[in-house]
Amino acid sequence: PKGSLTVLGLGAMGSAIAHRLRGAGYALTVWNRTAAKAEPHTAAGAQAAPTVAAAAAAGDVVFVVLLDHATVREHLEPVAAELKGKVVVNLTTTTPNQSRATAAWAAEYGIAYLDGAIMAVPDMIGTPDARLLYAGDESAYAIARPALEALGAAEFAGADPGVASLKDMALLSAMDLMLLGYVQAIAMMRTVGTTAADTAGEVEMWLAAMLPYGREIAAIVDGGTYDTGGQSVDFDRAGIASLITASREQGVSARFLEAHRVLLDELAASGHGASDWPRIIDRLTIPS
Ligand code: NDP
Repeated sequence: PKGSLTVLGLGAMGSAIAHRLRGAGYALTVWNRTAAKAEPHTAAGAQAAPTVAAAAAAGDVVFVVLLDHATVREHLEPVAAELKGKVVVNLTTTTPNQSRATAAWAAEYGIAYLDGAIMAVPDMIGTPDARLLYAGDESAYAIARPALEALGAAEFAGADPGVASLKDMALLSAMDLMLLGYVQAIAMMRTVGTTAADTAGEVEMWLAAMLPYGREIAAIVDGGTYDTGGQSVDFDRAGIASLITASREQGVSARFLEAHRVLLDELAASGHGASDWPRIIDRLTIPS
């Protein structure tokens, strides 16, 4: 028989995870602050625990899918004794330092801690399209792995318990900046009556053609010399100036683009105008 698992938190994501784990044949205990949300799970054969302590005591591996870091700590700290010797898989979205802090707390109480990041929406859980990253205790990963693989493609990102969260936040940052690009283009084109849908279609085509360029940027950064003779900082400064002027001429703010120009200007001012523009990454390092 498969082992016993616990899921704390039955929101949209916790429910999807609980359904999938139950469907994969595990004995499942669930707990949720609003008890009514456990009903579909008990109907499907899970046990509902009346308290976090009872839920924590029931499973060998305890999944935590709560709102945020504060909620996780508020509910786990009082049940440290029940969690001792078990594996805790915290799938709640947290920052890298929050993940590290919870890992340090777990280590103090003899709890094997895995910090997870979910690169998926609830509907994707249990399909190969769901990618879940884990970091922290590698032996805990080995123990929990069959259950983790029931949730989607599982990847151990490293022993630093913050690294799965970090990768999550880095990928979300890339998405955020890219999607702002759509907004900028839509704002510019709607000044001449083009619908957002039409502009989004154009942007999608253009970005699809440009995506491979990301690997070239990476090669330049990894090379570390910024002298490949590709697009230079000065060349880019001229280009960005045109984008900013064009936006403003249409009555559209260029504040996202201006942030880019500030960094390029800093590079030029420090004597790097002729460098490959990906040297901009150095301007992102905050001096310690
Ligand atoms: P929901 O808002 O649907 O659910 C939140 C859960 O947290 C509920 O179980 C809720 O309980 C519980 N909760 C909130 N505050 C408290 C509290 N003070 N005490 C106890 N329980 C509390 O969120 P999701 O399920 O979507 O998200 C859960 C985690 O998963 C988040 O960290 C989110 O970032 C992450 N995630 C979600 C994704 C998604 O697409 N949904 C994608 C990737 C990660 P109650 O039912 O009683 O309100």
